[in-house]
Amino acid sequence: MDYTAEDEILIESKWQELMLSCKKICKNEADWNFIKRAYFLAKEAHQGVRRRSGEPYLLHPIAVAKIVVDEIGLGVKSVVAALLHDVVEDTDYTVEDMEHIFGHKIATMVDGLTKMSGVFNADTSRQAEYFRKVLLTLSDDVRVILIKIADRLHNMRTLGSMPQNKQVKITGETIYLFAPLAYRLGLHAIKTELEDLCMKYRFPKEYAEITQQINETSAAREEYIRKFNAPIIETLDRYGIKYEISGRVKSAYSIWTKMVRKQIPMSEIYDLFAIRIVFQPLEFPSEKTQCWQIYSSITDIYTPKPDRLRDWISMPKANGYEALHSTVMGPDGIWVEVQIRTQRMEDIAERGFAAHWKYKQASITQDEDEFDKWLKMIRTALDSPSQNAIDFLDNFKLSLYTSEITVFTPKGEARHLPYGATALDLAYDVHTKIGNKAIGAKVNHKIVPVTTQLSSGDQVEIITAESARPKPEWLEFVFTAKAKQAIKNFIKREQEDNLERGMEMLDARLSELNITPNNRVLRKLMEAYDCSNKDELYVKIGAGLVTLDNLEKIIKTNSKNKILKFWTLFIKDNDDDADDEIEESKQPHKEQHDGTQLTIAECCHPLPGDNVVGFKDPITHQIIVHKATCDELNRLASQHGECIVKEAIQWSQYKTQSSLATIEILGIDRMGVLVDLANVVTNDFSVNMRQINIQTHDGIFEGTLSLYVRDAESLNAILDRLRRMKGMESVKRTN
Ligand code: MN
Repeated sequence: MDYTAEDEILIESKWQELMLSCKKICKNEADWNFIKRAYFLAKEAHQGVRRRSGEPYLLHPIAVAKIVVDEIGLGVKSVVAALLHDVVEDTDYTVEDMEHIFGHKIATMVDGLTKMSGVFNADTSRQAEYFRKVLLTLSDDVRVILIKIADRLHNMRTLGSMPQNKQVKITGETIYLFAPLAYRLGLHAIKTELEDLCMKYRFPKEYAEITQQINETSAAREEYIRKFNAPIIETLDRYGIKYEISGRVKSAYSIWTKMVRKQIPMSEIYDLFAIRIVFQPLEFPSEKTQCWQIYSSITDIYTPKPDRLRDWISMPKANGYEALHSTVMGPDGIWVEVQIRTQRMEDIAERGFAAHWKYKQASITQDEDEFDKWLKMIRTALDSPSQNAIDFLDNFKLSLYTSEITVFTPKGEARHLPYGATALDLAYDVHTKIGNKAIGAKVNHKIVPVTTQLSSGDQVEIITAESARPKPEWLEFVFTAKAKQAIKNFIKREQEDNLERGMEMLDARLSELNITPNNRVLRKLMEAYDCSNKDELYVKIGAGLVTLDNLEKIIKTNSKNKILKFWTLFIKDNDDDADDEIEESKQPHKEQHDGTQLTIAECCHPLPGDNVVGFKDPITHQIIVHKATCDELNRLASQHGECIVKEAIQWSQYKTQSSLATIEILGIDRMGVLVDLANVVTNDFSVNMRQINIQTHDGIFEGTLSLYVRDAESLNAILDRLRRMKGMESVKRTN
């Protein structure tokens, strides 16, 4: 079907807008012609095709090209590649055609973009392999990734017209990979928008609530910012500094993640907004000195919080970010974050990579910076094909957030590690052998456990012992991809040995007792030794963690099955276009669906009432049900988007049994705390307390409650009740 006259008018107006944006990058007639040729080819190639929303397809490449020039700050070649980015993928044109018409450079860029679109549709290993290829393009030409991010941003902006299963897949990939990539490439504004859009589609209710609250409080906030800024403005004006001062509210997504992480309501987030001062530096003294001068004049007015000073000027972040951040005590006892930066730093913060390069070329004096080092690291990683492709993908993601602290070896050599890194990370950073043999560390000449978290400026010596070996718990204490991989490798080798040995030991013992090792026997043993599968059982036996002395007794006793079926889930059968209200009235299906069973995900343990999403295991075809907020789900969605179950999965309302929840509490000790706790839990709600464990020390009590609750709603009600108890400081659900 051809485009209508209206379509043509719309296309023409968008194209004019794009040309207006290109004014700042086109230096001569040749540049203009290059872009126009790309546009007319794209127009011809996509002629008559429409997007799912019904709008002409061509609007998509135009919009991507506009993001590329306006929001990322790239040049003519990138605009051309953006206009052509779907031509090879979706039409009869080939990469050779591109080479022939637009030259080698554009052809390789379009080729890179085409390869990338295959990435998320293939099976996992092929997908990860593709991804590795794409990252090779990154080390060749970062622009390809930047254009891909622009493509993703536009698809996210227009996600509303996609069916729900596609939305889950696309938002999963975005939160897993594209937002971190955008962050790593310094595209702060785009990263924030991607996250907000993910939240908008995945958690519409929460998103609407937070946005509404932000809007409702905006008048009061602006009034406060005005009051806060007044004396600063007066001072800066007196010094004759050219600057702009603005107050910025945190994004809905970052507010929400903080609420979830700290389990607090929005009203308790104190750093909801930050003040940003962007100034034009004078020739002299240095930018850095001028930033500190402004800092100093602000702290003359407001008292700074000492542990909240962040100096990313002396040592910029790995993604190139430079600024001075401080939190100060404002009027009415409110902490306010103040960010100080020059116009150049602002450009880098907003536009990332492209701005970074522009300024870098201007000053040739710069040494290899953090960003170059990161690119180099990617190249090295890509060159060593020893890891399997999926591990590589996961590790690569880890490396997206890097290099926030600097520590020193005993000889004074500086080493960069991600924020949160421990002495173990350093040990593995120096050498795998040192990591594997580490038993402790000396941080600033004091002996500490090897799992101790390091701070910038620490001097660290690793203590090793020949007999030492990595422990599985270490995985929880390392932050770097290198350390994680090394520990996993070691454990895997060790486990394989133990598994074999354990199998032999068990077989031998059972045949001594004349017992046939059937499933029933193994199940009993697994239960007795607290193992979730046979392999775990063999490994435990092989490692000597359990003895086989009372084997006979275990097998002969009739133990109660501890595995409880807690709830019923059902798949709501709906088509994309089906009317919701009719669907609601249908009788829910049983757990069966195509002969597949719904299984609760081990990673996030959804409770009845939690929002859930189904994921169909590509091998077993089992449907695993995750919490909609689950990180693992996002990871899976980005690797096997096609496995997200299309239909909504819901809890059945009437057949809910109790399930176990563990709550951590902390508060100020007083008489009668235990009685009050028991009252809240037993009298007020129909729940069963399974275990209560409270310790008091130095006037503080802390402990855990294990409860059987009916559903998420009643659990939340208990959490609320507990929070309102006198002296209670914190109440957290831990599973
Ligand atoms: Mn596209």
